[in-house]
Amino acid sequence: MSWVPGADGPWGVHNLPYGVADGRIVVRIGDYALDLQSVLALEALRAPVLNDFMALGPSAWAAVRERIVELLSSEEHRAEVEQHLSPLAGKTMSLPFTVGDYVDFYSSEDHATNVGKLFRPGQPPLLPNWKHIPIGYHGRSGTVVVSGTEVRRPSGQRSADGGPVFGPSVRLDIEAEVGFVVGVPSVMGETVGVDSFAEHVFGVVLVNDWSARDIQAWEYVPLGPFLGKSFATSVSAWVTPLAAFARVAAPAQDPVVLPYLAERERYTFGLDLEVDWNGSVVARPPFAGMYWTPAQQLAHMTVNGASVRTGDLFASGTVSGPERGQVGSFLELTWSGAEPVKLADGSTRTFIEDGDTVTLTATAPGANGQALALGEVTGRVVA
Ligand code: CA
Repeated sequence: MSWVPGADGPWGVHNLPYGVADGRIVVRIGDYALDLQSVLALEALRAPVLNDFMALGPSAWAAVRERIVELLSSEEHRAEVEQHLSPLAGKTMSLPFTVGDYVDFYSSEDHATNVGKLFRPGQPPLLPNWKHIPIGYHGRSGTVVVSGTEVRRPSGQRSADGGPVFGPSVRLDIEAEVGFVVGVPSVMGETVGVDSFAEHVFGVVLVNDWSARDIQAWEYVPLGPFLGKSFATSVSAWVTPLAAFARVAAPAQDPVVLPYLAERERYTFGLDLEVDWNGSVVARPPFAGMYWTPAQQLAHMTVNGASVRTGDLFASGTVSGPERGQVGSFLELTWSGAEPVKLADGSTRTFIEDGDTVTLTATAPGANGQALALGEVTGRVVA
């Protein structure tokens, strides 16, 4: 238990996500930010981003976390620490880490099946490689933005009767995803074993991988996503450390995967996402059912000798469950626009309209058995 007022809920001392508020590294406790450079003598915490701290590795992460828990729990520290706590309201949160490379996967069997049906009707929805290899692509890290950043509707080419046309996307969508942030880099030419995930990955962010479906559908053959994805990817302002999460069992895989993808302990994290569209909750995607785990994704993206760097972000791909109310994209929710959804204000939607706001939130079982909240990722679309 913490002495901080109101810190007995999902933002308690079992959570403690890291962020950057008004240019300084903080942890969140309740509705307050604790300024870390004021209470911990660690050079890496004086930077305006988390990268130097994330590069220190698991033993430093654990020591810092243990010390923060002690400072926020024990009454003997209260007088000293309380002066470095301040309300979150009114603070400006910035992108908490400098993003290295950004990789996006495609790990939900339900999502891949739905997209296969919509994009390749009449063919088997899952391509033959899907259950053997975590499918992914390299994205654009320079357009990863912090939650709250406005997203400008992209323009591009789309297919039309009589030839392609150019203009603002008319099928702008979201992808509700879970992102993993690399702390400890790997060496080029060496691979990160599938059981070494927690030695490299620092924490978790929520991701909205905005997607222009009309641009994507026309451009993606044969090399995959390009301008339909690269205009903006939003991440939460808070990075939840791996240490905060309970490990939960990941689904069994059939067929058996190749040895470099076979985990000794097959686990994932139990995030339950919520997709809010202009104030209406339209879907609750469950992350624990994803076919490929983040450990398999990291092993796969380095198995050829490619290295990862501090600040690299790899995202799960759209989180969709088997039910319509569990999908992480509006493409699936409205079945490519054929089945509009009704929002609480009485309006209907197929894809995103200018002025719309989409907010993703999540909870997850914490390592101590208590629920965690994750930082939201929100964005408003402008013309
Ligand atoms: Ca994506």
